[in-house]
Amino acid sequence: MPDTNRTVTVDGVEVEVAEGATLLDACNAAGVETPTICWAENLTPVNVCRVCVVELEGSRTLVPSCSRPAEDGMVVLTDSERVRHSRRMVLEFLATGVDLSQAPEINRWSAEYGVDTERYPDGERIDEPVKVQDDLYIRDYEKCVQCYKCVEACGDDAQRTFAIAVAGRGFDSRISTEFDVTLPDSACVYCGNCIGVCPTNALQFKTEFDMRAAGEWRPEEQTITTTICSYCGVGCNLELHVQDNEIVKVTSPADHEVTNGHLCVKGRFGWTYVGNVDG
Ligand code: SF4
Ligand code: SF4
Repeated sequence: MPDTNRTVTVDGVEVEVAEGATLLDACNAAGVETPTICWAENLTPVNVCRVCVVELEGSRTLVPSCSRPAEDGMVVLTDSERVRHSRRMVLEFLATGVDLSQAPEINRWSAEYGVDTERYPDGERIDEPVKVQDDLYIRDYEKCVQCYKCVEACGDDAQRTFAIAVAGRGFDSRISTEFDVTLPDSACVYCGNCIGVCPTNALQFKTEFDMRAAGEWRPEEQTITTTICSYCGVGCNLELHVQDNEIVKVTSPADHEVTNGHLCVKGRFGWTYVGNVDG
């Protein structure tokens, strides 16, 4: 068998990655943590956030590490001033226009790159009321960074329902149902896979939304219990998030071989009966 591994040098450290691996995989192999927003292990990279860019020797432009296939002999810099400057700019643009108050991972990276949230004081912020159209989940597009993860999870990468897509152009672009109809009137089947991949809480369980509004959302006190969904025989892993002895939301691990983090409406939302002792 020919050796199909690729040798890549990341910040001076030589690593070997398998055929088909990306530069992000090479960074991980070298122990270099890389910021990502639109990338997820259970989705196909769409290359829109540009926060994972690295400097690649011989390349005129910075390249997105999440989607660039690793080739033998590549030499990559992840912490040069050029890379830091580019990542900082992306994060500053996002901090200017979007409510990132429930995006701790992005805020962690903003701190790491010294983001100045006042750099663009006249920048326009997205101004849109929260869409509360059913009892299952809400959409708060003031928090949307347009990473397209929800579109991918609803489409080719998981659900294949295609209930949501990017509408509009340029500054008017936004995530929308077809003809901007309400969720109950759309093709949505309420699998909640879009919520599962959203990095900013723009898509959020109604339970969480209500508890936050009441000042009762305390994630530091929550426990997560892993179990198997009992509705059918597929065997999806569920993670039950519990606060004060009540289930408050349900997720599934992205690396689980049955679900890849994705569920159906029953596993995602069909848990209220557990606490319904009077029902
Ligand atoms: S809940 Fe499922 S079907 Fe509905 S928009 Fe989200 S991913 Fe698409
Ligand atoms: S709603 Fe969430 S997942 Fe969808 S594009 Fe916006 S930030 Fe990304």
